[in-house]
Formats: sequence, structure tokens, C-alpha cells
Amino acid sequence: MVLDINIYLILISLSAAILAGLLTSPFLRTRKLSFILGAVLVALGFYFLQNGGSEQVKTTAIYNLSSIGLGFGLVLRGLVRPNIHRPKYSNQEAVIKDEAVISIRNISKDYFNGVKTTALRGVDLKINKGEFVAIMGPSGSGKSTLMHIVGLLDIPTSGSYRLAGKEVANLSPSEQAEVRNRDIGFVFQQFNLLPRTTVLDNILLPTIYNNSTGSKDRALEIINKVGLSDRVNHKSNQLSGGQIQRVAIARALMMNPHIILADEPTGNLDSKTSEEIMAVFQQINKEGTTIVMVTHEEDIASHAKRMVKLKDGLIISDQIRS
Ligand code: ADP
Repeated sequence: MVLDINIYLILISLSAAILAGLLTSPFLRTRKLSFILGAVLVALGFYFLQNGGSEQVKTTAIYNLSSIGLGFGLVLRGLVRPNIHRPKYSNQEAVIKDEAVISIRNISKDYFNGVKTTALRGVDLKINKGEFVAIMGPSGSGKSTLMHIVGLLDIPTSGSYRLAGKEVANLSPSEQAEVRNRDIGFVFQQFNLLPRTTVLDNILLPTIYNNSTGSKDRALEIINKVGLSDRVNHKSNQLSGGQIQRVAIARALMMNPHIILADEPTGNLDSKTSEEIMAVFQQINKEGTTIVMVTHEEDIASHAKRMVKLKDGLIISDQIRS
């Protein structure tokens, strides 16, 4: 009988088993599976505990309790964790067919730093190939969080994110890096070029780890596209803010990404230079690259074809320019 067993033994085996359940559930691909397996283990544990009768020996009771605990662990994890998809990626180009290149459904993000902060609360957003979208909103509305999730620099607390048709919401860090390097180019406000290094070498940087052939020719072609042909061998400390941002754009384009994510790309630039940088973005977009850009400046956003406004972690308006 259970009552014959030392209470500490019961508590230890139950907690160990709950812990085991929590730890093993990530290996199950979906929370449904975790939930069902957990429920079966709990049911079996209780059944044998009930039917063991007075002859039941300690070890069998502990086994049953462990099964209950393990089951509870899995059920708990199944309840609180979003689905775990671990798709495998090949180096093949992702095929985009009639599906949005970015498809976000019911994405939420909570931060826990002593207190819980909800940065996004169930955001839905679809972006088609070739769009140029500006994300706007007051400070703290969730723009950067959304960009980090879209750029696979962070994972959402819950919800689905399909990038080029593949679920990527819960990739491991190495899978995130693989998809990020292949599909996404970043342009940030504070762009750190390698100091005392030429424009060409800064732009060639992303290719170092990818054994890309013909990299130099491609880099020169891109340098021409962003209007820096006369600065190829200038070092980064010899460039203006606008030129540095052009290098940043060129570097983002180097791996031929599907999407360019730009976070306040003109934040440090005067208005004339900002216009020039936006003209570069528009040209790149015309050539087919999808661009998603965070900005708080209306006139910068007006270069995009679509404007999405966030407030308090929710999209409050989504307008396409006529
Ligand atoms: P925005 O880019 O629009 O200014 P953020 O996405 O940076 O907004 O932030 C949204 C909310 O989430 C804010 O309340 C912010 O304080 C909070 N937040 C952002 N990053 C973190 C973090 N790493 N830890 C805790 N809270 C965060």
C-alpha cells in the first residue's frame, strides 16, 4: 500500500519524475504528443496503484508514483509550451509558392526579468514577396521585438512564424543562424564596420564562412549598385555616415537574401542623406527584395509601399499606399 511507504520517498520519487517529464518533453515534437503520453502515464500509474491491493510492494508503488510524476511533468510541459517543430533545412533555395514570405500568426512575446513584460500580444502579419513595409509605433510598442523575431534573433513565447513557407518559430539557435544567414540581410542604425578595413573587405565579410565563389565580382557589382564605386578601397574611418550605411546595405545584399530587415536605417543621418539611402532601398526593392523597415519618422516610412503601426504590442493599423 502507498501508506506503508515513507512519505519522503513518495515526495522524492514524485518530484524527480515530474522533473524528468519536464526535461524529456522537448524531445517530443508537439505538445499534443507530450500531453497524450503524459495523460496515459498518469492514468496507468493510478490504475496500478489502485489495483495493487495490500500486497503491493514498495518498489512497485514507487514505480507507479514515478509514472504518475513523469506523466504530470509531460502534461504540464504540454500545457505551457508552444508546439515544437524542428524542421531540417537544406542549402537549397526555399521555394516560395503563393505564400507570404513572412507569415506570422498570433505571435506573443513575454520577457521575464524579475517581472513579466509582454512586448507582443498576439500579432498577425503577412508580408508577400517583393513588398516594402514600414513598421511604425511609439517607443515600447514592440517594433524591435517584432523585428528580432522576424529576423530569427529571438523566438516568440507562442504563436507561429512561417518564413518562406517553413515553420521557424521554435528553431534551435544553430538552425536559426542557418536560416538567418541564408534568407535575411540586416541593416541597423548603429552599423559597426570593421575599423581600418576597406569598403570591399567589409562587404566581403559575410562570404568568408560560406566559400562563395565569384564573391569579389559580386561585391564590386553591389558596391556599384549602392553608389560606392569610387570608394572601394577607402577604409571605414574615411567614410561619411551615409557611405557607412551604404556599405551596411551592400553587406546585407551580399548573400542575396530574400528579405532585408532594417531597424532605423536612417536614424543617424541628415535628411538629405536619409533620402539618398531610401532611394537605394527603393531600387533594391524594385529589383525584387522584400524589405521590412522599422522607423519612427513618417517621411522615411512614406518611401515604403505599406505602413504597419504597432501600439502596446498589437497592430493597430495596416495601410497600403495607393
Ligand atoms: P520598441 O522597439 O517599439 O521601442 P520594444 O520591442 O523594444 O519596443 O519593447 C517592447 C516592450 O518590451 C517594452 O515595454 C520594453 O521595455 C520590453 N522589452 C524589450 N526588450 C526587453 C528585454 N530584453 N527584457 C525585458 N523587457 C524588454
